[in-house]
Amino acid sequence: MKLCRLTLPPLSRFDRCSLTSHFSSISLLLQEDPIHNSNLNPSYKPLPSFSPNLDLHSTTQLHGHLTQLGISSTPPHCNQLITLYSKHRLPSHARNLFDEITDPDVISFSSLISCYAQNHLHQDAFLAFRFMRARCIRFNHFTLPTLVKSCTVSSNPFMGTQIHAIATVTGLDLDVYVANSLITMYAGIGLLNLSRRLFDDMPKRNIISWNGLLAGYVGNGKFEEAIIFFRDMIIEGLRPNEHGFSCMINACTDFGDLESGLAIHGFIIQLGYDSDPYTVNSLLNMYAKFGDSCAAEIIFENLTSPDIVSWNAMIAGCVLHEQNSRALQLLKNMRSYGIIPNFLTLSSILKACAGYGDVYLGQQIHGYLIKTDLSLNLYAGSGLVDLYAKGGHFEDSVQVFDSMKDRDLITWNALISGCSHNEKHEETLSYFCKIREDGCDINRTTLSAILKSTAVLEAIINTKAIHSLALKLGFLTDPHVVNGLINSYGKCNVLMDAAQVFDECMIDDIIAFTSMMSTLSQGGQGEEAIRIFLNMRKKNVRPDTFVLSSLLDTCSRLSAYEQGRMIHALVVKTCVMDDTFVGNALLDMYAKCGSIEEATSAFDYILEKGVVSWSAMIGALAQHGQGKTALELFQKMVYQVIMPNHVTMTSVLYACSHTGLVDEGKKYFESMRETYGIELTPEHYACMVDLLGRAGKLTEAKELVNKMPFEANAKIWGSLLGAARLHGDPQLGELAAQQLSYVEPDKPGSHILLANLYASSGMWDSVSHTRHLMRKLGIKKEPAMSWIETKNEVHTFIVGDRSHARSREIYAKLEELGEEMAKMGYVPMVEEVLHDLGRKEKEELLSHHSERLAVAFGLISTPEGSPIRVKKNIRICKDCHVALKFISKIVSREIIVRDVSRFHHFRDGNCSCNDYW
Ligand SMILES: [Zn+2]
Ligand SMILES: [Zn+2]
Repeated sequence: MKLCRLTLPPLSRFDRCSLTSHFSSISLLLQEDPIHNSNLNPSYKPLPSFSPNLDLHSTTQLHGHLTQLGISSTPPHCNQLITLYSKHRLPSHARNLFDEITDPDVISFSSLISCYAQNHLHQDAFLAFRFMRARCIRFNHFTLPTLVKSCTVSSNPFMGTQIHAIATVTGLDLDVYVANSLITMYAGIGLLNLSRRLFDDMPKRNIISWNGLLAGYVGNGKFEEAIIFFRDMIIEGLRPNEHGFSCMINACTDFGDLESGLAIHGFIIQLGYDSDPYTVNSLLNMYAKFGDSCAAEIIFENLTSPDIVSWNAMIAGCVLHEQNSRALQLLKNMRSYGIIPNFLTLSSILKACAGYGDVYLGQQIHGYLIKTDLSLNLYAGSGLVDLYAKGGHFEDSVQVFDSMKDRDLITWNALISGCSHNEKHEETLSYFCKIREDGCDINRTTLSAILKSTAVLEAIINTKAIHSLALKLGFLTDPHVVNGLINSYGKCNVLMDAAQVFDECMIDDIIAFTSMMSTLSQGGQGEEAIRIFLNMRKKNVRPDTFVLSSLLDTCSRLSAYEQGRMIHALVVKTCVMDDTFVGNALLDMYAKCGSIEEATSAFDYILEKGVVSWSAMIGALAQHGQGKTALELFQKMVYQVIMPNHVTMTSVLYACSHTGLVDEGKKYFESMRETYGIELTPEHYACMVDLLGRAGKLTEAKELVNKMPFEANAKIWGSLLGAARLHGDPQLGELAAQQLSYVEPDKPGSHILLANLYASSGMWDSVSHTRHLMRKLGIKKEPAMSWIETKNEVHTFIVGDRSHARSREIYAKLEELGEEMAKMGYVPMVEEVLHDLGRKEKEELLSHHSERLAVAFGLISTPEGSPIRVKKNIRICKDCHVALKFISKIVSREIIVRDVSRFHHFRDGNCSCNDYW
């Protein structure tokens, strides 16, 4: 019918392939097919039904045969040929056939519409329907569901409602097939109420109606409604089939409701669906995703022939729960069963490789993907980008990224997170610009990764830009983004902006509080951090282990012993005492606040002591002058097969250095690489130089500096300078001080040490020259200060300070102590005063050093017998060291002084450092 060709527009797409050799080996077909053998008689009317499973070759042969017989364009044959060509994805052949029909009927049109719909030519399907109606051909209850399905698939609700209207007018909306298709369509576009109304109005429903609405509830995230509906379905006496069951099981998986999943599993067993592969795979997926590997393994073992879906569910579950080696094992087994992994398998495996750090296997999979041309696949590509980035092969990661045709947010996030993971922070920023140029969306993962890099780069302008972008995109209510912003502003040292983000975000969320507290603490505003914490408690936000350890860290920095104890009480109250992270922080806090006993008991309390706990305890003992105990603990650690790291070894060397154990120190230093595989760091060299210098082996120390493989840093020159001063070698001191002033030109340390060095050798001219130089360079000496904390209040003192409210009592106390000390044989070491003064003035100056004022205040303001904790910002002088020993004996109290390099515990006339510091 030629008219038809004129009115119905041509196909919107061409077929994949064209027909060739239509009529070849027709005799073969005729011999093989008894039905078609009877066709040899032209007068015989063939049965109007061909096998729907004919392959393409047989279909074309049949077509040729019918053409020869002149009956290919008669409706029953033609309609079935259309259906066959549709199945073989050749809609243009179907269309050509249709055009040859002289008088197409409802079945011809329905076949053509269904052919278009099946081949995703939805617009053509609608046009064919319009043409059908124009020719006044009545459609039936088979035509409409096909069209409604087209509307659903092509997301064309407008057309869908039109068809619904047509169905209502013709009364076909009550037909079960039509209604079912409409229920699915409305549910698909989120109009669940409409779906439900259609469902309720149906005079007769079948299982497909129930499954359709059930899938609608699940698809729209209405999990509770789905459960109720499923229950109603059973009460109505309907027997759910494999579609209903797998839909419900998948819903339980997605909504994290294992309990309902278990109940439905029981039901599945009862109805005997536990051998249906479709249902079993959804169960397998559920248990694997919930991490119930036992149940998943049992189901999996019982499968007679697990298919690719089963294998994939198992592998994905393992990867999700970081059982990466099991996932890799499953891949091996799968291949030995002859199942070829698909791209879903491989993307899971790539994740496992990334988690397991197996870049080699990842590379093999990459090779396989290239061979099978799957490498450009979005999932696999993103997996490769992630794997290479995490495995430290950043350039390969970029190469895969560049070779990908399609990229989505996951790909971009893998690359950007990879950049920041590999410390390529400049690159992170430039890729971020590209993602914006690409017009790709961003999410909180992207922003968090970028903010990590802006924090490291201390890039204030970029941080501000991300801040306004996050504001624009509405991400300022996301705790992770807020957290990143606070942290980045903190690192850029603009605490004001960080506080503003915190105040404006209005998130009473533990993450935001934690970020703000650690930012303040790291910015040196520990007291403010504690204030935020108290505020958080007021808002009833329960502190977690992270907050508590970060607060303990703050107290360590502040040496706030009382507040540290308060947080310890809270740790006990919140029952997180057995958390290793918190345990380590407690240990560190007590050690830094001067209570080595409490630090030790915190250490004993840690159930799972890792290298961090051991290293911290060894370091603490060393700092508190218990070098021998520190080394014993180190032996114990090694005995328990805990491998030390470079931090442990620094503490060990420090312990040797501060206890004068030169030979032990040398032994550890020389055997470190061989015994423990630890490379020597500048830190280790600094300890060693310090060790030799303190022990008076100045030449050896100098030689070590000369032959070390690094440029000597400030710490090393500082140690050498200190040693030169201690052992009176102005020549070496001058050299070290000069080097130090090159390395740290703006810091007063080198100049002060040099001035002190000249002063102790009586070289007053050089002293005044150095001081003059300092004035010229605008370098100010930080005044020597001491602090003491009583009743949550910090009292600060400087030498000869009379500004304290109880100054009179303090000086009276010192006077009284001075008399007693003199009786016991104390003679002031006036040579410690590095000013050109008379003996009397020097003595007076010494007796009013800041640590003595602080100790005297402690004695008059704290309970009898309690320890006194003082903190000092420079090293304690020799004379005060002697004096405090006498005082500890006179008052029978422990005095703990934390100076810049260590702790001194004065007890009963002795100091824990054994005068070696
Ligand atoms: Zn002193
Ligand atoms: Zn001491």
